[in-house]
Amino acid sequence: AKLGGRNRAVEFRSEYDVNASQRLQLVQRLREALDNDEFTVLFQPQFDCDGRAICVEALVRWQDPQRGLLLPAEFIDACEDSGLIMQLGRQVLNAAASHHEHLVAAGLPQMRIAVNVSAAQFTDELYDDVEDVVLRLGLPPGALELELTESVVMQSPERAIDLMKRIATLGVCFSIDDFGTGYSSLAYLKRFPIDRLKIDRSFVQDLDSNVQDAAICRSIIELARSLDVGTVAEGVETVQQERWLREHGCVGLQGFLLGRPQPFATLLPSLLAGYAV
Ligand code: C2E
Ligand code: CA
Ligand code: CA
Ligand code: CA
Repeated sequence: AKLGGRNRAVEFRSEYDVNASQRLQLVQRLREALDNDEFTVLFQPQFDCDGRAICVEALVRWQDPQRGLLLPAEFIDACEDSGLIMQLGRQVLNAAASHHEHLVAAGLPQMRIAVNVSAAQFTDELYDDVEDVVLRLGLPPGALELELTESVVMQSPERAIDLMKRIATLGVCFSIDDFGTGYSSLAYLKRFPIDRLKIDRSFVQDLDSNVQDAAICRSIIELARSLDVGTVAEGVETVQQERWLREHGCVGLQGFLLGRPQPFATLLPSLLAGYAV
């Protein structure tokens, strides 16, 4: 049956209230979760074209005692909106960077640890948090990488350049995450102090069957070359994709084919073994 204007308004209103109160509950739970150390960090490896491990990306998970292991899609937005992302981001940064000494001990001192940074975290406070962890752990230059999306840096490019340059003085490098899905100006791109572009999974997915996606991947690799920065392909799932990317000069590969996100301890042996190409 058709609903009248009034009823519809009432219906939307109550739905909105339910969502709002659910959101409040979630934020309350997130606050407790932060205090109770319910967040853990998994790591996904990146390998170069010779199969050497070059980087691990930290990916946060919420180990909820009731609901089990939750993906970022379930809670990152709420963390950003509520400001809790600052505290969560700090926990992830510290947890991730604390593994640097384990990489060194395992004979992998050149490997990077990459950490995702969302828009709400990209403030002067980030400089302080990064400085704190770099000094406290004595991280050498290049050990820590921050992943920023195009939208984060393009929101206010001049401010972004300034903040990135300041953070770069701490020996931290930068990659542009999900590259190709946002809008970035080439004029700015060359001014950002970035070390690599991460080709978004959506272009890698259908590389074999879709000529446009293959053309996009080729152009991003070309663009990165002319900017003198590296490339990492995300979401590599098949041997065909892996081969194509290697043959077209993509520097780094990341995806379920090469390794799933997992606890650092279980990942370490495969980092040492490398990826058989
Ligand atoms: P992202 O930075 O693009 O991370 C890659 C996502 O793709 C991860 O999902 C990863 O598990 C997934 N993935 C990797 N390889 C493959 C593959 O071969 N196939 C498929 N289908 N998926 C693959 P995850 O862990 O659920 O993270 C989702 C997003 O949440 C991340 O996207 C990132 O934007 C955000 N995120 C994760 N951890 C953090 C964090 O500590 N801080 C912040 N601010 N954001 C985070
Ligand atoms: Ca990322
Ligand atoms: Ca990404
Ligand atoms: Ca992506």
